[in-house]
Amino acid sequence: MKSYDVAIIGSGPGGYVAAIRCAQLGMKTAIIEKYSTLGGTCLNVGCIPSKALLSSSHHYEEATKHFEDHGIEIPGDIKVNLEKMIGRKQAVVDQTTGGIDFLMKKNNIDVFEGLGAFKDATHITIEGKDAQEIEAKKIIIATGSKPSNLPFITLDKERIITSTEALKLKEVPKHLIIIGGGVIGLELGQVYRRLGAEVTVIEYMDRIIPTMDGGLSKELNKVFKKSKCKMMLSHKVQSVERTGDDVVVKAENKKGEVVEFKGDYCLVSVGRRPYTEGLNLDAAGVKMNDRGQVEVNEHLQTSASNIYAIGDVIKGAMLAHKAEEEGTFVAETIAGQKPHIDYNLIPGVVYTWPEVAAVGKTEEELKADNVDYKVGQFPFRALGRARASGDLDGFVKILADKTTDEVLGVHMIGARCADLIAEAVVAMEYRASAEDISRMSHAHPTFAEAVKEAALAATDDRALHV
Ligand code: FAD
Ligand code: NAD
Repeated sequence: MKSYDVAIIGSGPGGYVAAIRCAQLGMKTAIIEKYSTLGGTCLNVGCIPSKALLSSSHHYEEATKHFEDHGIEIPGDIKVNLEKMIGRKQAVVDQTTGGIDFLMKKNNIDVFEGLGAFKDATHITIEGKDAQEIEAKKIIIATGSKPSNLPFITLDKERIITSTEALKLKEVPKHLIIIGGGVIGLELGQVYRRLGAEVTVIEYMDRIIPTMDGGLSKELNKVFKKSKCKMMLSHKVQSVERTGDDVVVKAENKKGEVVEFKGDYCLVSVGRRPYTEGLNLDAAGVKMNDRGQVEVNEHLQTSASNIYAIGDVIKGAMLAHKAEEEGTFVAETIAGQKPHIDYNLIPGVVYTWPEVAAVGKTEEELKADNVDYKVGQFPFRALGRARASGDLDGFVKILADKTTDEVLGVHMIGARCADLIAEAVVAMEYRASAEDISRMSHAHPTFAEAVKEAALAATDDRALHV
């Protein structure tokens, strides 16, 4: 029987990063993955393929709607070849998952293909291509998550689908009905809207992206409405039925009326749930909480002291970079180091265009905590760089402590915000004040100048360009 210092179950961004860090720290490491490709949800059916389709559909929209403004004329029709677009997406995925194979080899990590299950706290049985039993002193559970569903919906995976199927459709829907105005619904909704589908978003709460700052929800909702997506907020879905190629969704609005929506595809994107099926956690003495997550303490250690858990399968934001930080954290903890993660400073990004990005506390959270704060906000349309490129929508909002000026939250929507948020994370990691940011030189002309201007606005209401 092969024996390891550390065995990791699941090869998503949590698992594969943990494996690399364990190997770097000199531990004999194995990783077990039930699918034939490594990389988990993120690389195979999540972050990477969705961003590939967002990029392709963005190019199409630029070509059809904005090239002319820049004096670029394309004779004849511009058409979408969906098969080719999906093929390119798959090539990007294949290249990226192949890269993880390379990294496993480079770091001398043994990869086992098959379903891993606990025999006891130090033995894992693997069922599948590389069927066998292995032994490990420490084990990391990194089994991720699967799409959630509503109890009354039957996902046929043809017309009533999850994000996994939405990433490989064979035709552009005529009318895509999306249940859930969260990250997946909005990113994939925008992809198909750009490609020509009519899109209706049905959201239970009174705003989309309801966990983000209210200002961002409002602005993104405006952008979606401008692109002629129907945004049905405060609607509670009651039923989803398929007849032939039609899908009918019924939802109750705030007045108690039942509204009917008829489309040809329905994407169910109401969140994801931790995935622990088949792991046989009981055999190892690993406990779950009442939300179905593997229970962990502050060291990400489970109720079995040699077993840790990371990523989507435990509490916290279901984000690839959160899983990665936890992978590193656990590897270093096992090696006897004292790592640290500040969960308040894990940024959140929605990769629509304009992009939405945030870190730290929202205004709603600060109000609920009775924190005395001030706001500095700056619109992108006041920037030369935004006018040069034609990306005028959005703003940067900085929330700072009224007394100390410490930055407590940064919320932005606009071009390239997914990248701009990194500056806010650095600033907040070093507990910068709004004035600190406002006194740093930001290259001109850049979108990043909006961060400096928002900081100036927060410092003393002294933004320069509004
Ligand atoms: P996962 O990536 O889910 O990996 C878990 C792996 O464990 C899987 O490969 C699974 O097959 C394997 N596994 C499970 N059980 C077993 C077992 N018993 N034996 C062996 N293997 C097993 N996050 C972002 O930060 N940015 C984004 O842009 C983003 N976009 C997304 C888009 C979509 C459409 C989706 C669905 C998700 C997106 N996410 C994004 C979320 C991100 O994918 C997850 O947060 C991330 O993948 C979680 O990583 P993980 O390592 O915890 O688990
Ligand atoms: P989500 O939690 O982001 O959004 C789900 C939405 O569905 C919420 O707005 C919720 O109010 C709504 N909802 C729930 N029940 C409903 C009902 N009965 N009727 C109507 N609406 C309902 O979940 P998601 O979009 O499915 O994404 C799942 C996870 O994947 C998220 O945790 C997210 O962090 C991650 N993800 C991240 C990214 C990114 O970082 N860019 C992209 C995609 C997915």
